[in-house]
Amino acid sequence: MPKYVYDFTEGNKDLKDLLGGKGANLAEMTNLGLPVPPGFTITTEACRHYLGNGGMPDGLGEEISAHLADLEAQMGKRLGDPGDPLLVSVRSGAKFSMPGMMETVLNIGLNDSSVLALAKQSGNERFAWDSYRRLIQMFGKTVLGIDGELFETALDEMKGGRKDTDLGSADLQRLVEIYKGVVRAETGRDFPGDPREQMDLAIRAVFDSWNAPRAVLYRRQERIPADLGTAVNVCAMVFGNLGMDSGTGVAFTRDPGSGQQGVYGDYLQNAQGEDVVAGIRNTVPLQELESIDPEAYRELLDIMARLEGHYRDLCDIEFTIERGKLWMLQTRVGKRTAAAAFCIATQLVDEGLIDMDEAVTRVTGGQLAQLMFPRFADTTDNRRLTTGMNASPGAAVGKAVFTSEKAVELAGRGEPVILVRRETNPDDLAGMIAARGVLTSRGGKTSHAAVVARGMGKTCVCGAEELEVDVRARRFTAPGGVTVEEGDVISIDGSSGAVYLDEVPVVASPVVEYFEGGAAEDELVVAVDRIMTHADSVRRLAVRANADNPEDAARARRFGAQGIGLCRTEHMFLGDRRRLVEDLILAATPEECRAALDALEPMQTTDFRGLFEAMAGLPVTIRLIDPPLHEFLPDITDLSVKVALAGDGATERDRRLLEAVKRLHEQNPMLGLRGVRLGLVIPGLFEMQVRAIAAAAKESADARAEIMIPLVGAVQELEIVREAAERVLAEAGVSALIGTMIEVPRAALTAGQVAEAAEFFSFGTNDLTQMTWGFSRDDVESGFFSKYLDLGVFGVSPFESIDRDGVGRLMRIAAEEGRRTRPGLKLGICGEHGGDPESVRFCHEIGLDYVSCSPFRIPVARLEAARAALTAEGSDSR
Ligand code: PEP
Ligand code: MG
Repeated sequence: MPKYVYDFTEGNKDLKDLLGGKGANLAEMTNLGLPVPPGFTITTEACRHYLGNGGMPDGLGEEISAHLADLEAQMGKRLGDPGDPLLVSVRSGAKFSMPGMMETVLNIGLNDSSVLALAKQSGNERFAWDSYRRLIQMFGKTVLGIDGELFETALDEMKGGRKDTDLGSADLQRLVEIYKGVVRAETGRDFPGDPREQMDLAIRAVFDSWNAPRAVLYRRQERIPADLGTAVNVCAMVFGNLGMDSGTGVAFTRDPGSGQQGVYGDYLQNAQGEDVVAGIRNTVPLQELESIDPEAYRELLDIMARLEGHYRDLCDIEFTIERGKLWMLQTRVGKRTAAAAFCIATQLVDEGLIDMDEAVTRVTGGQLAQLMFPRFADTTDNRRLTTGMNASPGAAVGKAVFTSEKAVELAGRGEPVILVRRETNPDDLAGMIAARGVLTSRGGKTSHAAVVARGMGKTCVCGAEELEVDVRARRFTAPGGVTVEEGDVISIDGSSGAVYLDEVPVVASPVVEYFEGGAAEDELVVAVDRIMTHADSVRRLAVRANADNPEDAARARRFGAQGIGLCRTEHMFLGDRRRLVEDLILAATPEECRAALDALEPMQTTDFRGLFEAMAGLPVTIRLIDPPLHEFLPDITDLSVKVALAGDGATERDRRLLEAVKRLHEQNPMLGLRGVRLGLVIPGLFEMQVRAIAAAAKESADARAEIMIPLVGAVQELEIVREAAERVLAEAGVSALIGTMIEVPRAALTAGQVAEAAEFFSFGTNDLTQMTWGFSRDDVESGFFSKYLDLGVFGVSPFESIDRDGVGRLMRIAAEEGRRTRPGLKLGICGEHGGDPESVRFCHEIGLDYVSCSPFRIPVARLEAARAALTAEGSDSR
């Protein structure tokens, strides 16, 4: 039988899969000899069993009993004992941190008799009743499913305008009775007084909370697998609410916003952990603990230094001080902003804690992409309303909305919104995802809004205390009486904390300026430079660009492109040249056809020369024309109307054009006459393009042409085009590789044959995904994909990240069988996936030679290629 329960002394930080992040790190701290209250962890395996079978696994109850007995022996108290009660917390903790998404219940073990004992033992009656009312409130909400507002309202009424710390013992005792009444009225039963029953129900509730809607949504957003389950940590309670010599806090070993070393965190006297998150009272900066309790402060700083050295990374910490004694309740490698991730990685290298290889794995392509976002141009803008805390960077502009629902509604219509709240809670998650940015008037850098936004890479300004947010009236008021109503546009700067009225213009990021050739001066850009330079030295995959004009090609080269992996030629047939394409289609004789092609050829030569020059010395893959011809012709309805209205006056050309448009009309053009099929049907079209490529290559210094045939499904198609192309190249005395795209499933499945006629394959994963799934790439994403995502058919659109099991399998087959035929076959990818971090990793794994992506994504692909080369598995940075 598997072991389902581990004492904190039995685990370690590497057991996150089994013990969850919190459990694994509590065990690690215990074994480091840090002051962690004793306890045990129920594994994620038990949770998976519970969720899969609808019941607790056999033997779990007994195992829990044995560990509880050990805990009681260690503490010298029994759970809920009417003479001297042990109290425990029951806390969730999955492998990946999901802040606030699942449940926690504190003070388990209190009932009508043990509360009296707790009062006596602690010599603090107020504390005992406060703990009891907290238990009923948390238990009622999370375990019994009672609307939390009912408790909040009762608490507010009891406070009657006073602070929560002003409530006396008698008030709290009365509140307990009121709360018990709420439980009775809402559930039809009394609050369960049996301590073990409390504990067992709380454990179940934590397991169930894995599938709470907000947890499901969070996992989808963060791409956390749905089948991991959560662990449960049962831990002896220590109390931050025993008086002003007690308290609770959170801390970071470095600034999670910038990476600067120092003391960062919040502290709240006479409180329990949930008060900090809920923003019941405003916290004080951690530095103030130095004067409140210098000894505990010094010990905390020592422990923080030790943890950072041990984990070799920024850690975040939750702690409680009980009557001057410091207790560690949690630590983990902390979430950080993208900028901080780069700075911290290089700082740790300089401090000798990690090497450059590891530094590269400590940052992600997603973080680099964030650093490439624009920022506000004028930060002295006089429309500044206030400045809050810079909780998560970026420049966000949108309409102010005051509820999660409104955010979702407007964003669904394509309107950018900023979610404005006094503070957020886990129920706001959908709105936070939908919004461009989040603005709150309360809470610090460790508030829910800040932590969740940072995790998502979403711009966030929090704790803008000068703003009076009135959620009911859907407006906020800024100093000076400026009122912002729902729908008014505001701009928020997550890097400085500034909040502006109206739209503030944005400018390029310094990281982009650096990639454009600027100097590496500030700390962040220097860090990016160091990491990218090292990344380039360790990656195996080359990175090319999808570019079809000299400007894009030149920019791509500045961004580090090692060639062009896809030059689409179709736009070269638009604009003024459209008429020549029409001539080609209308040609009645071979001579007319020839004349139209002859007119196009010099233009194409000029197009290609520009690209070869911009990419001199590097390969340039030119794809012969791909889309259906009708895309170059007038719209069938417009032209029909034009001809009909003109009646007898319609021109001969228009009449012939209309005929051609009708003739070429297809029900499913994406599956029709396009790509290689067009080349086989329109005589001379592909040859003209190849002639232009050859001529341009001859005229440009150090041109390295690669000719790519689209939409091939059978080797025979490729052979015919290849033969003609080789003839043209030989006549011109130019050499070029000839290869094909792999974008039709049949080509992937017959890759062994196709490779006979191809010197390279480039995976066109846009079409390959479309044709493998049978999804129209132009329609489904905006059509029904959100439903598919909700239903969990897939966690991310297969057009965004390669579907490893289906499309990826075809790619593997094609790569393996192609190389079996032709060992030197060059392999690349040029679909949109070429710039997606997960897909780059996959391309590395299946042995491609290069990825090709849009110029702006090249740095991301370079970094991800290096990360893939350095780590066999995915990172745990979620
Ligand atoms: C592809 O299909 O992946 C591809 C790159 O070609 P296009 O997007 O032009 O069809
Ligand atoms: Mg394609």
